[in-house]
Amino acid sequence: MKLIRSRAEWNPHWLNHLQKNQKIGLVPTMGALHQGHLDLVEKSKSQMEITVVSIFVNPTQFNNPEDFKKYPITLEKDLEKLESYGVDYVFNPTVETMYPSKPGLTLNFGELETVLEGKFRPGHFNGVGTVVAKLFHIIKPQTAYFGQKDLQQVAVIKRLVRDLSFDLDLEVVPTRREEDGLAMSSRNLRLNSEERKQALVLVEALKTAQSQLESGESWQKVKAQIESKFFRMDSGNLEYFELVDPDTFELKEHFDPNQKSSICVAAYIGEVRLIDNLPIIL
Ligand code: AMP
Repeated sequence: MKLIRSRAEWNPHWLNHLQKNQKIGLVPTMGALHQGHLDLVEKSKSQMEITVVSIFVNPTQFNNPEDFKKYPITLEKDLEKLESYGVDYVFNPTVETMYPSKPGLTLNFGELETVLEGKFRPGHFNGVGTVVAKLFHIIKPQTAYFGQKDLQQVAVIKRLVRDLSFDLDLEVVPTRREEDGLAMSSRNLRLNSEERKQALVLVEALKTAQSQLESGESWQKVKAQIESKFFRMDSGNLEYFELVDPDTFELKEHFDPNQKSSICVAAYIGEVRLIDNLPIIL
């Protein structure tokens, strides 16, 4: 496994693989790797000849500076894990390499900016879109891998690829969960043992809502019940609990079994902001 720090270092390898007609898969991450990330790596390994994992904690996508400062960094362990999965290259640039100057360009993802993550994290998708576009230009993969855990991010990246004509395919990998159901996330490392237990409220709310909707309960009633459950909790501070179209992220007032729907949740557990989602499949 080779550690690459810049486009100049990467380009000769890229050319070599291009000449051999070897397909390149890119797995963009911010490190602090867990099994969810490794599922993306496995998918790339199974489909592509060459797998590149990027590890870059992107400052421009953090709307909260404290969240950026406290983002876990575990590079040595990450490299060991990736080596054991047979990853070919790790792209780990510095902030100065990725941003030689502050970007003057701002990306606006339209309607996606006005709801859920877009609404509660202003500027977040501009940062995500900018860094992902840079990674696509630098690594030049044939396929890029993203997790369903960040469902709205998937919609943003699909829009980026379509609207800016990136010549690559996207693969979306299902959410990996801990045994008790908590969606794996690098931010889970910041939960203390009490908060770790409380964090289950997200997946439990999603599952309760899913089964109530599937048995015919109205969305408005389900939503009100879940919101009041969070309201009564000491530490689970709910930001949103919404039913959406998973492609457009249009909010749904009512559940229609003939249309695709996902439930999305974001909540603070102590100081840690967690998100999760579940599709409704009838
Ligand atoms: P991050 O390092 O959090 O930016 O995540 C890097 C990639 O891994 C993104 O495409 C995420 O959606 C994906 N990812 C994060 N957590 C999970 C999970 N629990 N299951 C599947 N994919 C995930």
